[in-house]
Amino acid sequence: MGKIVSDLAHNISGDLNVENMCTLAWKDNDYLALHWAVLGGFEGELAQHTYLCLFTKMREELMINGDLVLRNCWIVIPPTAVKGVLRHLHSLHQGTEKTKRLARQTVFWPGLTNDIATTIQTCTKCQYYWPSAIAEPLVQDTVSTIEKVTSDLFMFGSHHYLVYADRYSGYPLLSRFSSSPSSSDLIKEFRFYFSLMGTPNILRSDNGPQYRSSLFLDLLRDWGVQRPCRGHSENY
Ligand SMILES: [Zn+2]
Repeated sequence: MGKIVSDLAHNISGDLNVENMCTLAWKDNDYLALHWAVLGGFEGELAQHTYLCLFTKMREELMINGDLVLRNCWIVIPPTAVKGVLRHLHSLHQGTEKTKRLARQTVFWPGLTNDIATTIQTCTKCQYYWPSAIAEPLVQDTVSTIEKVTSDLFMFGSHHYLVYADRYSGYPLLSRFSSSPSSSDLIKEFRFYFSLMGTPNILRSDNGPQYRSSLFLDLLRDWGVQRPCRGHSENY
């Protein structure tokens, strides 16, 4: 597990290595409070802590790894390290969406999406070289593909299957399970799909419990994917 954190930290923070990040974590009172809350619970005084309130809804997804906190497979970046990580993520000047996708592979902090958008919008280099990348939803050739996807669960024989398909091309991805998949199973697969094919704007699915769970809805929110409610399904 230590190696995972080390690799993640190397990938996203360049010169800000895991050792430096741990040092910053231990000097950051908010991050220390988060660390203790993950270990001992968010009750009591900690429930009123401004920084911790940002994590209340996702506390089940948090775990400790050495000196750092993970949210599922992402490192929760200490507030004092956010600037450095943001600088590294933005170092290639790739525009808002690509920078967000890069971040979502490895890191998390509350406000990540807005921080990236603000950084790109105020970068003169990005504005000069990539004016279309500032407000881009996606690059032009992906407007029609991976913009809208559909997903469904079904049984065939003794196995359960998850299908995920691009609505424009019809290209499907399929995952097989030996028993009915949970929301966590779906989240794991969807992260893989998003990483492989890019993040869609809209997901259509049935109203099954896995797709309605708060964990799954959090995933969609974090990745910026909309899931119109059933009554609106004909409009997209
Ligand atoms: Zn830039």
